Amino acid sequence: MHTLIEHARAFPAKIVDQQERFARLADGQQPQVLFISCSDSRVIPSMFTGARPGDLFELRTEGNIVPPYRAQAVCGVAGSLEFAVQSLHVPDIVVCGHSHCGAVEGLIRPQHVQTMPLVRRWLSRAGRRPKAGEPWQTQGLGQDPTEATQQHVLTQLDHLRSYPFIARRLSSGRLRLHGWYYTVETGQVLFAVSGTRVFKPL
Ligand code: ZN
Repeated sequence: MHTLIEHARAFPAKIVDQQERFARLADGQQPQVLFISCSDSRVIPSMFTGARPGDLFELRTEGNIVPPYRAQAVCGVAGSLEFAVQSLHVPDIVVCGHSHCGAVEGLIRPQHVQTMPLVRRWLSRAGRRPKAGEPWQTQGLGQDPTEATQQHVLTQLDHLRSYPFIARRLSSGRLRLHGWYYTVETGQVLFAVSGTRVFKPL
């Protein structure tokens, strides 16, 4: 923690030559993208996208899970989605999974999260939207972590489409969805080819 505090203390002096650019940030934000990624400390979206302050509206959740839409939900994820889309009018949303994701590991092997009831309940929102009376589905991802994570990303894109304000903008062409997969050991980013379940290098 100490080095982080030292860095924060020194930060104003480090950006003193960029004062004009930082001062403009106080006028408001118009981010290029709503970037949804995992809370994992190894995933730093601004590092691998080259984003600068004001570029990314970030939403980080355990396992980059987006719960399906529920009209009465009291949910920080849903609130952030609504704000980014309705107020900031982001033109693009990225859901970015990553290699070695502990949340996906918990989905594949539920016994790993047996002692964490809150995590278990959160992970139960990762699966497909159940019909009335059905239990929540988290299985069916297979055992291969890479493939499971990529399919998991595509499921979260499906969940995004269940939000009415997102569906409206998708149908009118004002919004685009993207599925990404970040490899922590190489820095490589893959993307889901539109209309398929296949991921290829960007
Ligand atoms: Zn993760």
